[in-house]
Amino acid sequence: MAEAPKRPGDQPGESQSGEVTCPACGGTGRKGEAVCPTCEGTGRVRQIVGDA
Ligand SMILES: [Zn+2]
Repeated sequence: MAEAPKRPGDQPGESQSGEVTCPACGGTGRKGEAVCPTCEGTGRVRQIVGDA
């Protein structure tokens, strides 16, 4: 049984800080027919990693 370390809410190749997949649109950059206001259509948002 091979158990790989899992990082919650993280995609492979992504840094711990910086840009992450937009949780609002799931990285599609769209909200229905409109552009996702959270990431402005980029599908990524800046996440600040600091104190919890
Ligand atoms: Zn978005």
